[in-house]
Amino acid sequence: MTSFKNSFTTIVIGLGGLGSAAAYWLSREQGSEVLGIEQFALGHERGESQDHSRIIRLTYHNEPYVRFAQAAYKTWAEMEEDAGEQVVVKTGELNFWPDSTTLREEDYNRAMAACGVGFERLDPVELARRFPQFRLPDEVHGIYQPDGGLVGAIKANEAHRRMARRNGATLLDNMPVSGIRQINGGYRVTAGGREFEAQKLVIAAGPWTNTLLAHFGFRLPLRVTHEQVTYFNSPHLDEFRPDRFPVWIWMILDNFYGFPVYGAEGVKVAKDRFAPVDPDNRSFEPDAKNEKEVSDFVARHIPRGHGPVLYTRTCLLTHTPDVDFVLDRVPGHPDVVCTVGATHAFKFASVIGRTLTDLLQRGETAHDISLFRFDRSALQPDAERAFEIDGFGDFSQKA
Ligand SMILES: Cc1cc2nc3c(=O)[nH]c(=O)nc-3n(C[C@H](O)[C@H](O)[C@H](O)COP(=O)(O)OP(=O)(O)OC[C@H]3O[C@@H](n4cnc5c(N)ncnc54)[C@H](O)[C@@H]3O)c2cc1C
Repeated sequence: MTSFKNSFTTIVIGLGGLGSAAAYWLSREQGSEVLGIEQFALGHERGESQDHSRIIRLTYHNEPYVRFAQAAYKTWAEMEEDAGEQVVVKTGELNFWPDSTTLREEDYNRAMAACGVGFERLDPVELARRFPQFRLPDEVHGIYQPDGGLVGAIKANEAHRRMARRNGATLLDNMPVSGIRQINGGYRVTAGGREFEAQKLVIAAGPWTNTLLAHFGFRLPLRVTHEQVTYFNSPHLDEFRPDRFPVWIWMILDNFYGFPVYGAEGVKVAKDRFAPVDPDNRSFEPDAKNEKEVSDFVARHIPRGHGPVLYTRTCLLTHTPDVDFVLDRVPGHPDVVCTVGATHAFKFASVIGRTLTDLLQRGETAHDISLFRFDRSALQPDAERAFEIDGFGDFSQKA
């Protein structure tokens, strides 16, 4: 009879973008003492981390995020060297600032300057000369940051999991975790009818975070929404390759943002929807209204990128009331860490995985993660009201 190992130093619950990164960084130190458990098939399309690309950028509105993003680039580079594979593609990043925006451009520019991040302001004439793919109204200027680009999301997730296994970790899929109990010296985890024990836990469950936290008596004020991205089959795809076309963001709330051709033969553009949904009872059908808004935007502002819709892909997004991550120990459980991506974490996946490892292995991290504390006021139980009062808050960080 085959006997399975059922006792580990650390169990990672959830193997999306953040959990896969955590499993990898933990496996560098704990090897076969790491178990990762995923409720669906590895690489499934029901969560937040699927699709070919996510924007990576240094253009953030305060110094802690800019510095954390700088650390993310370094961590991705270390991971790429280990994987022998490129997952970060620097295309340059263009942020479009319409006069009518309610976001504070000066905060972004000040934070980047304070962190030594170079950027250029492009007036409409210079924008048109450098990036002729865009047709923009005169009231829009651009901020160009050359380090911006994309992370190959599918590639990165697969690489993290492949290397975790290479380092000896066990990764199990189609095994929903249904129970967590504190036992002497650790935790007993029930998943897919089996029981496992571990001294330490990582909770990286994205839209399902509160189902897992319920085992510890906690509930965070999170909201899950149904989002989508659309690929256009432009007849001029060569003008939209990563060496000619940057990632870009229209800097308003519920923004449009887009990518060069990468992973699929199409120009990828999206607009936030913020449509609340139950992650276990949702449609995978694209929203036709959002698809049309995106198509109209591309036809008007990126005309040679427009073409028939190749496909529209839906996914989930988990929001905190203040749009800041959760990256901390669960109160009262120093050996249990939890992370929530708060709509914009893929670019940080590698450094988040490494920081979770630091917290569990060494009890500290060199990074300033004070904004991401579990006990901050924005995560107190009554903060859930913020979603109703303020709509979806300031989503300037999205993408
Ligand atoms: C359309 C869209 C565009 C985005 N654009 C960007 C961008 O440009 N740049 C950027 O940085 N970020 C972006 N983001 C955000 C980013 O993708 C997410 O913050 C990130 O992927 C979150 O990863 P995660 O691992 O927390 O969640 P997920 O990928 O959802 O992973 C959580 C995993 O936990 C598993 N799980 C849950 N419960 C259990 C259980 N009980 N047992 C076992 N497994 C369980 C789930 O099945 C899932 O696989 C975007 C997101 C969306 C949806």
